[in-house]
Amino acid sequence: MRIDIGNLLKQRGQTLERSVQADVEPLDVGGEQVVFEGPVRLDVRLHNAGGRLWADVKAHGRIRASCARCLKPVERALEFSYSEAFRRPDQDPLDDEGVRESVFEGDEIDLSEGFREQLLLALPMRQLCREDCRGLCPICGADLNEGDCGCRPNDVDPRLAPLAELADLLRRRDGQE
Ligand SMILES: [Zn+2]
Ligand SMILES: [Zn+2]
Repeated sequence: MRIDIGNLLKQRGQTLERSVQADVEPLDVGGEQVVFEGPVRLDVRLHNAGGRLWADVKAHGRIRASCARCLKPVERALEFSYSEAFRRPDQDPLDDEGVRESVFEGDEIDLSEGFREQLLLALPMRQLCREDCRGLCPICGADLNEGDCGCRPNDVDPRLAPLAELADLLRRRDGQE
């Protein structure tokens, strides 16, 4: 993901637009695998601000994962944008902690590292098939988006059984039973 900036460096105030593609390996996000459908496209606008370069990047990709609640496959667009500054090694660093700044040498900048960092920030921690997905019934495993499965709400979830026993014990200790 390198861009030749030889010409851009010649004149202050100049801009350059380029599109580059990034192949992204499947990522583990919060224990779930997120797969990228094809490469992620980066539309990059570079600006020569007198020695320092600014890159405004818009990234577009498609991801595939499983819904964190009902496990159905989810496929959707992933879009995000960010800015990154680039300077030569002999220039003073930018005095702004909110902006990522990388150092470049020669006539090329490399967007890979900044892109990777921003990609991880842009990915939601959990993928959902829809915001109000009702998930699976903890008792019978039915998909609750397809209707009620008929399980009674007071059927104790086996994972909560120890709590129910404790409550029972406390009730008896208090002589309420
Ligand atoms: Zn779902
Ligand atoms: Zn059920």
